Amino acid sequence: MNGTQRPPEPPLELTFVAELRMFLAPANRAGTVRMATDGTPSLGHVVESAGVPLTEVGSLLVNDRPARPSYQPRAGDRVRVEAVSRPQPLPVPRFLLDVHLGALARRMRLVGVDTAYSNDLGDDALIDLANSAGRVLLTKDRGLLRRRKLWLGAYVRGARADDQLADVLDRFSPPFAPWTRCLICNGSLAPVTKSEVEAQLLPGTRRTYDEFCRCAGCGRVYWRGAHSRRLAAIVAAAARPPGATDPGATA
Ligand SMILES: [Zn+2]
Repeated sequence: MNGTQRPPEPPLELTFVAELRMFLAPANRAGTVRMATDGTPSLGHVVESAGVPLTEVGSLLVNDRPARPSYQPRAGDRVRVEAVSRPQPLPVPRFLLDVHLGALARRMRLVGVDTAYSNDLGDDALIDLANSAGRVLLTKDRGLLRRRKLWLGAYVRGARADDQLADVLDRFSPPFAPWTRCLICNGSLAPVTKSEVEAQLLPGTRRTYDEFCRCAGCGRVYWRGAHSRRLAAIVAAAARPPGATDPGATA
């Protein structure tokens, strides 16, 4: 199969669309990978062996005809590998982030996306939790995405958390509801009266603010106007023009 000795004529040729080339080995970044095959491995296996997680793959075309990952490519096949289409539909738009994506988790909660995150889960625990809770596992770890028992996962693009947020919103287009979710625990925020939370407030806050929400999960109190400009800027940048709620409309 993926041997080191090149045959005189490349028997199997895969062409990857531009969006997927970042996953290929540097020598293959032009987008075409040629490899030998004995007809045994599945197309899905061949694509993954080139470095591209199947979670990132959309249509597969073999000699211009649609094929499934289970197809066993033959010598001489020409394969076109396309990227998953955006927005990618989900049964339920909820997510679990791996341990390295804490800054992204906070941003996703800021714009109201149901985001589970813990900084102390191993790979198996992450996969089990994603599967049992019906959450999409978001990660930059390609090895994790290749695990067979993972129900649904996605690679997060971008090195900066702001870019990662833009990528997730572009890919899944989850409902946009800024300031509705606790940044710390992902719980839903519900409005409360000032008198209900007065005892928890510092004098300055008590004097300055009148509208409050409380997290149903951890009890943390939030108030309008208390978010830093930086958070407001993140929300503004994440707000999508078509059909998006104006985050300033109710402030
Ligand atoms: Zn909370």
